[in-house]
Amino acid sequence: MYPLVQSTTFKYEDPDLVADIFDLKADGHMYSRISNPTVANFEEKIAYLEGGVGAVAVSSGQSAVLLAILNICKSGDNIISVSSLYGGTYNLFNITLRSFGIETKFVSNNDDKEYILSLVDENTKAIYGETIGNPGLDILDFKKLSEIAKKGDIPFIVDNTVASPYLCNPINFGANIVIHSTSKYIDGHAVALGGIVIDCGNFNWDNGKYPLLSDGDVSCHDIKYVEEFRKSAYITKLRASLLRDLGSTMSPFNPFLSNLGLETLHLRMKKHSQNALVLAKYLENHEKVSWVNYPYLESREDYKKVKTYLKGGSGILTFGIKGGINEAKTFIKSLKLVDLAIHLGFNKTSVLHPASTTHSQLSNEDKIKCGVSLEMIRVSVGIENIDDLINDFDIALKEI
Ligand SMILES: *Cc1c(COP(=O)(O)O)cnc(C)c1O
Repeated sequence: MYPLVQSTTFKYEDPDLVADIFDLKADGHMYSRISNPTVANFEEKIAYLEGGVGAVAVSSGQSAVLLAILNICKSGDNIISVSSLYGGTYNLFNITLRSFGIETKFVSNNDDKEYILSLVDENTKAIYGETIGNPGLDILDFKKLSEIAKKGDIPFIVDNTVASPYLCNPINFGANIVIHSTSKYIDGHAVALGGIVIDCGNFNWDNGKYPLLSDGDVSCHDIKYVEEFRKSAYITKLRASLLRDLGSTMSPFNPFLSNLGLETLHLRMKKHSQNALVLAKYLENHEKVSWVNYPYLESREDYKKVKTYLKGGSGILTFGIKGGINEAKTFIKSLKLVDLAIHLGFNKTSVLHPASTTHSQLSNEDKIKCGVSLEMIRVSVGIENIDDLINDFDIALKEI
């Protein structure tokens, strides 16, 4: 059972206990901005699924990405990131974090190791990528990036949203921090927004580069997170300072709902992956389709690498319709079972034209960097009966 504790506050019998909770000397909930039993249950479950030592759930995936970076970076610092990213993350790194004085050096998954390593300077605090780039669907080169992270003595942060903890555990491939937008597959029903940051507990923050973690925090009784909390220094600091100060907390009702999703994650991810593979193969053979991209297609040149990192291809595929933007729109309008929706990673199949929606704010050049071509249609394949899905695609493609 997984009760919903909607309360913002809690009562205690012992004043000393409250003092200790405040001083981070005792475990306990003090105020739901900082922690809450229902949220904590969700955090513990996902930390366990990812093999981490702890997690903090926040109001959205965007907030998870932001807090994961702010926890170790201040103005003047920089990070290195693969450029094939979720559009919101690309903007956050390229525009908003830059305005905070935190620079992102973008690289491609294919750039060589020495080149990326040459970008690491004394202010470089992390290297960042997505397991399955959204929507370019390139697979993160875990081996190369984790080696760079080790050599540069910086943490490797991985957004594992599109794979979900069922298809991939980045900790097994060198990740130090893992992020999810729980709004996607973890929730799975498109009913609750959320994000989570998981600390893998496997990075040495005491290497002199992370004073925010190793030196005293003046806002929190001069606590030294590394000394006091060891393996969970990073995640403790994220909660005790950032969640406290920025307040982008997950509301308890959201993990209550998303936990229902979590209980069927293994079944859904299997079905999403099966359906998407069948649909991708069908599209590959369709005369009106010029190209198809799906991680588990054998025609992909990196297919072997994909299989080492992912237990299945997940539910996102992209394809190009012969012609261009008008043909793409005719196709989308002609679908009956499949919806036009912005979201991804839920039970029902939906399609989207990224160039005019999720990535429309980017220049054409930046769209290409993010893996978005103008004719591309993105499909978030759901768990419906596959024959019904193919039938719907068939009819809509005939309308072109
Ligand atoms: C959706 C998404 C995000 C942002 O998550 P929200 O919950 O929508 O804020 C971040 N990363 C990836 C890969 C996503 O798909």
